[in-house]
Amino acid sequence: MTRENPFAGRVAALPTDDFELLCSAMAERRCREEIGVGTYAEAAAAFRADPPCPGCGEGRAFRDGVSGSDLQRYRCRRCGRRFNSLTGTVLESSKKDLPTWALFLKLMTWNVPIEAAAELCGVTHKTAFEWRHRVFATVSGYQDRIVLRGRVWIDEVYVNDTDLSKGYGQARKRGLSKQKICIAVAIDASKNPVAVVCGHGKPSTKRLKAALGSHLAEGSTVVHDKERAHNGVIADRKCSSEAYKADATDPAYLDAMEMVNNLSSWLKRYLWRLTGMDPSNLQSYLNWFVYLFRVHQAEDRWPKTARVVRHLMMTDAHYRSIGR
Ligand SMILES: [Zn+2]
Repeated sequence: MTRENPFAGRVAALPTDDFELLCSAMAERRCREEIGVGTYAEAAAAFRADPPCPGCGEGRAFRDGVSGSDLQRYRCRRCGRRFNSLTGTVLESSKKDLPTWALFLKLMTWNVPIEAAAELCGVTHKTAFEWRHRVFATVSGYQDRIVLRGRVWIDEVYVNDTDLSKGYGQARKRGLSKQKICIAVAIDASKNPVAVVCGHGKPSTKRLKAALGSHLAEGSTVVHDKERAHNGVIADRKCSSEAYKADATDPAYLDAMEMVNNLSSWLKRYLWRLTGMDPSNLQSYLNWFVYLFRVHQAEDRWPKTARVVRHLMMTDAHYRSIGR
């Protein structure tokens, strides 16, 4: 027999307004239990204590009371600018509470369709779309610092513009590889990944250098499939080359290239779920893919949603409306 829920009657009798307050208080507590913080004020105290001035960068701002939503306010001792602990983050002007954002971020770590995220978070499709791009703004320079070293595998992934905007298998143009977008991918033995848009069609040496050059530590061993353009970037970075003839029926090739082949297939599956994206935003989606790849790797040590919330709080980023 199931025990009767002692709250059922009382909750059923609540007026609508009170019920909404109860739901919000419960969401706050659940969020606190899940990620350690339940409100913006708690998150700011935990991850963004005494931030520098968003105008001039001066630290040690004067504390200047608290806002209506309990956020610490500051006044810059150099330029006099007033700000609060969320100013300069993408959460700055959010009208929804932290538990709603935490749920949205959790759904984004699963890359659920934007329509589903909007429905579950109780926001419009337009808001969910904007939030997604706010999150992307926080990873815009994320790959710049990634340098692969030791044993590094490189390859290319090709997608049709129409695959991205209309979905895999639909309205696909056949033939000319020039119509395909090239994504240069790389991964090292420590499983640090890189994925960079590399123009259309097979890459030239110049394009590949631009895409991968800064991500390869000098002296690494580059494992690849003999694509000619690879040689330029390998020589440029004083790396050694270990090449295998691309042949999907050759066990030796598959074994040698397994690291990067896995990365490529995860990337294709990820892009496949993002049907309807504007191909001009592809690099943003790749940055998020690489960020998530690292978040997933550390998942057992550092729960995903808590980590992404902290990342958003600690990253100074601006969302610019992209007019859609
Ligand atoms: Zn200032």
